[in-house]
Amino acid sequence: MAKTDLDPDDWDDFRQHAHRLLDICIDRLSNADQHPWQPVPDSLQDRYAIRGQGSDLAQVVDRMAADVLPYHTGNTHPRFFGWVHGTGLASGLLSEMVAATMNSNCGGRDHGAIYMERAVIDWTRQVMGFPETSDGILVTGTSQATVIALATARLRAVGSFVRETGNGTHQFVAYAGSGVHNATRKALELLGIGHSNLRCIPDGSAGMDLDHLRREIDKDLAEGNLPFAIIGTAGSVDTGTFDDLNALADISSQYNLWLHVDGAFGAWTRLADDPWKSLSDGIGRADSLACDFHKWMYVPYDCGMVLVRDADELRATFAARPSYLAPLDHGLAGGGNWYCDNGIDLSRGNRALKVWTALEHYGPDRLGAAISDNCRLVAHMGDQISQRPKMALLRPIISNVCVFTADETLTVQQQTELNQDIAQTLQNKGIAVFSTTIVDGITCLRAAIVNHRSDANDIKIALDAVAEIAG
Ligand SMILES: *Cc1c(COP(=O)(O)O)cnc(C)c1O
Repeated sequence: MAKTDLDPDDWDDFRQHAHRLLDICIDRLSNADQHPWQPVPDSLQDRYAIRGQGSDLAQVVDRMAADVLPYHTGNTHPRFFGWVHGTGLASGLLSEMVAATMNSNCGGRDHGAIYMERAVIDWTRQVMGFPETSDGILVTGTSQATVIALATARLRAVGSFVRETGNGTHQFVAYAGSGVHNATRKALELLGIGHSNLRCIPDGSAGMDLDHLRREIDKDLAEGNLPFAIIGTAGSVDTGTFDDLNALADISSQYNLWLHVDGAFGAWTRLADDPWKSLSDGIGRADSLACDFHKWMYVPYDCGMVLVRDADELRATFAARPSYLAPLDHGLAGGGNWYCDNGIDLSRGNRALKVWTALEHYGPDRLGAAISDNCRLVAHMGDQISQRPKMALLRPIISNVCVFTADETLTVQQQTELNQDIAQTLQNKGIAVFSTTIVDGITCLRAAIVNHRSDANDIKIALDAVAEIAG
């Protein structure tokens, strides 16, 4: 019977083209400073249209070099400061190559990638100060991790019947600081709880106002609602603030509520020097934690993690073994860690390898030093902004996030227009990428540096360019 062979006819030919592409990729990455984000040309849509005719490998490699590589997000460039985008690591080139070669399915069964994921979870558990009873799973990012964490919290509050009959008549309520990331709202929407049942607690002197939090919980209890979770933030997306996690852990145990911590980037201050490390003190007391390797651990997209203090609660929320997934005593269907029991996905790629490669190659100390460097650099940026005429910080710098306006002498509306114009112009010219957010009603410039390629000269170039447009 004829067989359609999808492997190369000539592996030596494949090898040549693969080596050529690898060289192109290494050139690209070793010259990251030459490659800022650039606007996508109108012709790209046509160039990407599926022709569906098949083409030889030489052509595919040429197209990847000419049509694909140039149109990246820009976050490999040293003056990319926007949103919270990790910059990637050269080690990712190697780990992704091996991961693609193995093509492991990490939903379960007994093979190496499963044990590697266990090692990565275990290492993170220890860094974060979680007990040995914990377990977790690598996921796309903190958004998915939050869904898994809050689903587990919900099950603790009402029992496993929630898997059978849903939320019933319970009026679940959760609490978070007003700077909480939208991922928490989305998770509550997906769980059928609805984001209007997230009480947003205003900020006090350090993170959310704790008296206000207690009052809100008492009020909900008096009204017959079902408070089930507090979401603490370790590193808020807009301004980089941290809730007092020890205080939140005390309140959570007082009211018997689940404490989830969104530590998407800020959890990694555990690897930094003080004063930044102490910002996340108490993180190990949480019931669950979400964090991202693709942000401040610099590993390539995508890779986040959820850690849950009590592995039994996590599995009670997600485990299911229909007949086609039944375990066997040994063989491939053996093994004790089936990650499909810890989360949403059944088929899963190998995310652990890129983390493992980074940890084994650079070592946690060097990664932690890069994190501290980022915090120092943002502090320096804040000093520079304060020293320049007209420019002003809109919030004190706490960790790696800086929000500022180009000209504080203008009206709110004028500042908004100017800052928006500056952000777009610097992006379009390939000078620097700031994102924008709104602080005190002003659309401001925002830098969140999780970039191991940035240095003080990059800050100078970017701020000079801001000042030039502001005039
Ligand atoms: C980025 C971020 C998220 C969302 O994480 P993803 O990995 O993008 O899904 C949640 N919370 C905070 C504080 C973030 O910075």
